[in-house]
Amino acid sequence: MNYAIGVDIGGTKIHFALVDKAGRIIRHEIVPTLAGLGPEHVMQSVLGGIDKLIRQGEEQIAGIGIGSAGQIDFATGTVSFAVDTLPGWTGTPIKQTVEQRFGLTVYVDNDVNVIAIAEKCFGAGRQYEHYVCLALGTGVGGAVVADGRLIRGTSGGAGELGHSSVQFDGPRCSCGNYGCIEMYASGTGIARVALEALGDDDASNTRGLSAIEVLADWTVGAPYAVRAMGVVIRALASAISGIIHTFNPQAIIIAGGVAEAGSAFFAALEKEAAARTSPGMWKDCRIVPSYTGAGAGVIGAAAQVWHYAEERSGKQVSL
Ligand SMILES: [Zn+2]
Repeated sequence: MNYAIGVDIGGTKIHFALVDKAGRIIRHEIVPTLAGLGPEHVMQSVLGGIDKLIRQGEEQIAGIGIGSAGQIDFATGTVSFAVDTLPGWTGTPIKQTVEQRFGLTVYVDNDVNVIAIAEKCFGAGRQYEHYVCLALGTGVGGAVVADGRLIRGTSGGAGELGHSSVQFDGPRCSCGNYGCIEMYASGTGIARVALEALGDDDASNTRGLSAIEVLADWTVGAPYAVRAMGVVIRALASAISGIIHTFNPQAIIIAGGVAEAGSAFFAALEKEAAARTSPGMWKDCRIVPSYTGAGAGVIGAAAQVWHYAEERSGKQVSL
């Protein structure tokens, strides 16, 4: 059985894919989460999307892997805590519900933890025992692999690196802290910083900017974007320095839409992080892009099926 189904549940969209053992997407679909309609609606969408993928073909399915935003109790596959992007999602028994419906093996983990598994199976993580994934998307998510193992913590919340503060008197974050890295290096954070930088040029300009526009303006040297991305890169480098000093990793793997900004972004980030990190630890660490862009979440979700099957058969060291 060389196929698994991956499901990536985010605050705005749910991505379904049939993935083969080499990590290739065979067919896929994206539907809006419509999280405001409540957890029952989201769960119905998840079941409906899986059902549709199974019915579209004749493939034998080895199992279903799911990555979801929020803190996930991996053992039970239940959401132990979710923020307001998925209202009411806390307590949802995802694994149990999907297993009962389809009678297949189901794995559920946090959406960035599964990116770490995708990296272990198909990407840069194949050569590393110690690495940290940072997913720069609508928010900032993280996953930590130390000594070859994914660190989950008491309630599945370990690796929520987006809520490391880099500015203790900075703007208030949804988590309660101030100046979290998510306030600077997420898509919404970049837009917020850019709006402030734009205000320096023209106080009357309150035009909303997307992170993609800011990055495009940065690459052509627009003064406001250069100032804004200077803030973003210093903030992110500060957070990365803290991560390197905490975990002494071989690599920081950057995933998510912001990471697609390209080589100029990585070069600037490496220069700033190097200047902020003790040389003894910096010399062993690289900052690298994730192996695949937007598909990493859904491929990683499916990869759980292969990864944990090999772990049970003793072929793979545990993650
Ligand atoms: Zn926070």
